[in-house]
Amino acid sequence: MSQAIPATTSTGQPVLILKEGSSQTKGRDAQSNNIFAAKLIAEIVKTSLGPRGMDKMLVDTLGDVTITNDGATILKEIDVQHPAAKMVVEISKTTDQEVGDGTTSAAVLTGALLENAEELIRKDVHPTIIVDGYSKASDKALEYLDKIAIKVPATDKKWLQKIAKTSMASKLISGDSEMLSQIAVDAISSVLEQNAEGGYSVDLDNVKVEKKSGGSIGDTKLIKGIVLDKEVVHAGMPKRIEEAKIALVNSPLEIEKTEFSAEIRINDPTQMKRFLDEENSMLSAMVDKLTAVGANVVICQKGIDDVAQHYLAKKGVLAVRRAKESDLTKLAKATGARIVTNLDDLTEKDLGYAALVEERKVETDKWVFVEGSKNPKAVTILVRGGSQRVVDEADRSMHDALMVVKDVVEHPSVVVGGGATESELSFKLREWSNSLSGREQLAVQKFADALEVIPLTLAENSGMDPIDTQVELRSKHGQGKKWWGVNCLQGKVSDMEAEEVYEPAAVKQQIVRSSAETAGMILRIDDVVASGKSKAPPGPPPGAGGMGGMGGMGGGMDY
Ligand code: ADP
Ligand code: MG
Repeated sequence: MSQAIPATTSTGQPVLILKEGSSQTKGRDAQSNNIFAAKLIAEIVKTSLGPRGMDKMLVDTLGDVTITNDGATILKEIDVQHPAAKMVVEISKTTDQEVGDGTTSAAVLTGALLENAEELIRKDVHPTIIVDGYSKASDKALEYLDKIAIKVPATDKKWLQKIAKTSMASKLISGDSEMLSQIAVDAISSVLEQNAEGGYSVDLDNVKVEKKSGGSIGDTKLIKGIVLDKEVVHAGMPKRIEEAKIALVNSPLEIEKTEFSAEIRINDPTQMKRFLDEENSMLSAMVDKLTAVGANVVICQKGIDDVAQHYLAKKGVLAVRRAKESDLTKLAKATGARIVTNLDDLTEKDLGYAALVEERKVETDKWVFVEGSKNPKAVTILVRGGSQRVVDEADRSMHDALMVVKDVVEHPSVVVGGGATESELSFKLREWSNSLSGREQLAVQKFADALEVIPLTLAENSGMDPIDTQVELRSKHGQGKKWWGVNCLQGKVSDMEAEEVYEPAAVKQQIVRSSAETAGMILRIDDVVASGKSKAPPGPPPGAGGMGGMGGMGGGMDY
């Protein structure tokens, strides 16, 4: 286990290399500690894999509850201390950012790769050989993946919807996946753009997801336009404008106050009146500039003075203040408006167009909807659901669905889910390993075994017998039935292509590549030097001890 660095010279003089309180763990100890910690993380998320996976309830230090099935969210919420465990959390995060789905699988596969490596290490296979074998196996697996992947038309809504549905199958909201996946596909289809190479690209910034608890998930809607969670600023303003001409302003419609404190002495009431009149006429002039060019809707990123509000209302203009900068950018894209800072520069051409701008009540709040713009390059998905937790999880699932659809639009190539792809890759790798020899062969075989953990975990989570499943899957893949996998919903092994469970090839690529890299990185470590903490390590936060065996990983442990 860990120890302070005991370095002494030949004369017995102690030499201090590391700061007092530092600890070092070497060799086998370091390796097995790291592997143990990483495996533990995989263990936590394992039971949540697939459509029959369980959800996790996470309670943070403030008592806030999150209920989720999303690997990345689970790992983000738990406070992991061990450096090797952190690396596993990291890949699930990267997977989430890169491809949006497959976060649980990446953690599970990394855990399996490490567990299998440990067996080889116990048999005295040097970690370097395992790392090399793993790296070769991962390259080969990616090659096979490319070969078996099915090329699809990038913008075919039917295909895209199947992809979105698979990503939602494992979530709380799976019952509504038909409708939600349609929304995800429609959203992406409205914002995709053809790029120079003849392919398509998607900027997810153009899809705004707003959530509001209340109603049911079935009330989730796609709005071709932008929704602002702000109300119309003045009661006297119209609440609905058709044929809207929209001015986007990112400076305040107020009189700027001086930075320094000034004192104005007034000794005559008429002077006071003049002073106020002057302010009023400046504000009125601002409003005039807006209406002169024909604006009947004003969205301002900053404040709008009461007096300016009054003048705007009198002229029948609908105005919103303190809109988010990101919303202004989206509005600019959607309506074709230009964001202006100086009102003197405003011309008619800077105005955007929308068929309808309207304030509507969403539960207890009032929101402004901007719909029917000429070029609806920005859209909003308004996620609804019975409670805040449901809405939050629906929002996360919507994110996954949007990401997988984007993956396929950008890289139009898919594979079959339910562990069929992993089984096939595993089978092919085992076949290929026959051409290798010695310890390298062992490492490649262990890699193949690790891939099988995905279908086997799916089976286990669906209450199926893992051994029977393994035998059956191997025999089917041996007969060339490459898309046979675990049919979680029916609890049997079957042709998952017939079930139309498709996933982006990009997601599987990311899972294989990042898991192999992370496992390799962890295996290559044989020395952990932890610097001493300047203060006493904080105890685990209240409630943290309850997270699936994480109690031992709190502060102050040996690495
Ligand atoms: P991840 O975070 O890795 O995406 P999920 O909990 O979303 O984890 O589960 C994804 C796994 O579930 C994938 O392997 C996928 O193929 C599988 N899956 C999804 N839908 C089905 C289905 N209808 N039948 C069997 N497996 C499915
Ligand atoms: Mg998923």
